[in-house]
Amino acid sequence: MEHKTDILSKSLDEIKRDLISMGEKSFRGEQIYEWLYKKGVTSFHEMTNLPQTLILKLESQYSIGTLRLLKRLISKDRHTIKYLYLLGDNNIIECVVMKYHHGNTLCLSTQVGCAMGCSFCASGAGGLVRNLSVGEMTAQLLITDRDISELGWGRITGMVLMGSGEPLDNYDNTLEFLHQIHNPKGFNMGWRSITLSTCGMVPKIRLLADEGISINLAVSLHASNDEMRRRIMRIANVYSIKDVIEASRYYFEKTGRRVTFEYALIQDENDKPEHAEELAYILREFPCHVNLIPLNENMHSSSKRSRIQAINKFESVLKSAGISVTRRREMGPDIQGACGQLKASFLNGTADFKTEEAESSNGKYQRI
Ligand code: SAH
Repeated sequence: MEHKTDILSKSLDEIKRDLISMGEKSFRGEQIYEWLYKKGVTSFHEMTNLPQTLILKLESQYSIGTLRLLKRLISKDRHTIKYLYLLGDNNIIECVVMKYHHGNTLCLSTQVGCAMGCSFCASGAGGLVRNLSVGEMTAQLLITDRDISELGWGRITGMVLMGSGEPLDNYDNTLEFLHQIHNPKGFNMGWRSITLSTCGMVPKIRLLADEGISINLAVSLHASNDEMRRRIMRIANVYSIKDVIEASRYYFEKTGRRVTFEYALIQDENDKPEHAEELAYILREFPCHVNLIPLNENMHSSSKRSRIQAINKFESVLKSAGISVTRRREMGPDIQGACGQLKASFLNGTADFKTEEAESSNGKYQRI
């Protein structure tokens, strides 16, 4: 394999510096950046305002992303598209686009696998394989954005870091990636259109609060007391719920962004009315939001989804305690829209790809 630098891992300033050392003018950096981030081109030859000599130089030095589209699955209701991407080292990652009335949200992966080992999560079942690079995160956004616009869905308008991986465990690359796509000369995604979800790495939440970027923070709590949380999430052996809430409060104070606590309801584990009362108590006087997630059952865990009556009751207890609460809308269950499940079933050959599956419309992506 050729060893070219992935230009999607480079900031605009770095591209400009490279251009100057090639004997080129630095304004070409802005042109290249626009092609990459505003037009989503996949070849330097598409950059029609660059001289041919520069195109050849760029081509010999850089690649544009290292991802290959493996599968694209569109849910029957046409509200969700799931993408499986092959990385340069043959690892596979997935991301999902969800269509809402206010725009298209991309759910993006930050790691291959995950080290956090939450009991119900398919992504962490095999442990952490490796961090994704800045370019690999950027490519998920750019390739997916171009693909959905070719499908007539418009652009990606928001992003949640809720695919596989723990974003705060890949802190530096994730932050660089966020700055990259926020750059108004590039993709220009607003901070408020981005949500980072964490299992609660307390010191990193505080670090993030001090970055001066007002992205939304979601914290996976999933339990109303520490003993329960330790049964469900390994990270609870390191940080108490009190630590997690204090760090979240700090995040809110520094950024002004309301924190969301995610709570996956697991039958007979964390879904009793008394757990809802306990949760309301520990979140009292904190202007936060709770997002209830009906558990997605998967082959890596024996955890069962709570019954609908239990979910309703849990929600109503929180509401009557004055907690702001919503229930996560379920999207794309027919394409295994959730949490590492498509990749898992793809790898062991049980994925049901009879769901409507569209070929890349211009055949750009090689398929295996
Ligand atoms: N590591 C980050 C982000 C990845 S997962 C985090 O822990 O927040 C995004 C959300 O999906 C988290 O709240 C996670 O706990 C939840 N999740 C993972 N597997 C799930 C499953 N099988 N059912 C429901 N929610 C799940």
